[in-house]
Amino acid sequence: MKITVLGSGTSQGVPIIGCECEVCKSDDPKDKRLRTSILIEEKDTVICIDAGPDFRAQMLRAGVTHLDAILITHQHKDHIGGLDDVRPFNFIQHKAMPIYASSEAQREIMREYSYAFVEEDKRYPGSPSYNLIDIDGSPIIINDISIEPIKLDHFNMLCYAFRTGIFGYVTDLSYLSEEAFQKLSGIEYLVIEALREEPHYSHLCLSQAIEIAEKLNVRKTWFTHVGHRMGKAAEVNPALPANMMLAYDGLIIEI
Ligand SMILES: [Zn+2]
Ligand SMILES: [Zn+2]
Ligand SMILES: [Zn+2]
Repeated sequence: MKITVLGSGTSQGVPIIGCECEVCKSDDPKDKRLRTSILIEEKDTVICIDAGPDFRAQMLRAGVTHLDAILITHQHKDHIGGLDDVRPFNFIQHKAMPIYASSEAQREIMREYSYAFVEEDKRYPGSPSYNLIDIDGSPIIINDISIEPIKLDHFNMLCYAFRTGIFGYVTDLSYLSEEAFQKLSGIEYLVIEALREEPHYSHLCLSQAIEIAEKLNVRKTWFTHVGHRMGKAAEVNPALPANMMLAYDGLIIEI
């Protein structure tokens, strides 16, 4: 299985428009972060987790020509804002894009992209076509890949982490519940959110993310959904535990 980090940045991305801080002005490609998303590939199956406002750029940059499904963690705009751009896949694959989401996230997708849900005879030609599928407790099976959704608390919003085999993807959460911890136990590779060093009411900060990774005893951890206040990658990484580092756009994890 191959995991590609398509985006590793927080909701505003890095750099942030108009920001003059040293991280936003950094020339290091590892400090340039599109909105958080990953691609999962195994044999001919290709799955994307989240489709934020940078979805089009991410598909082009990763050279994605075929996409079997999109899994949505939650309905914040940095995770669903690019869904109009599934249209090329609709045209190429001649079918609606399967999108797995909670009922709350589906409601928001239907509101945000209302033009995709009008009756067939009133539909504007070329509108995107979605096949919304409920995430309940059961594993999501896409071809040969089985993915387990795990409920997270993102302040007052439901968000899903996803586990496939020994890999876990955990973003946008205030804390990790004991139940979610148990469902992640046994993973060896982890991509988990770490927004910044200081605590935040709805996101994990670095020390919380490190603590979870250590408790799970994973082999290797990458931090994602990173904001500019984290600092430059070249300065943050050397201070992290040896088996942990900031994720970066384009990072490939082979499992
Ligand atoms: Zn987010
Ligand atoms: Zn900045
Ligand atoms: Zn969020």
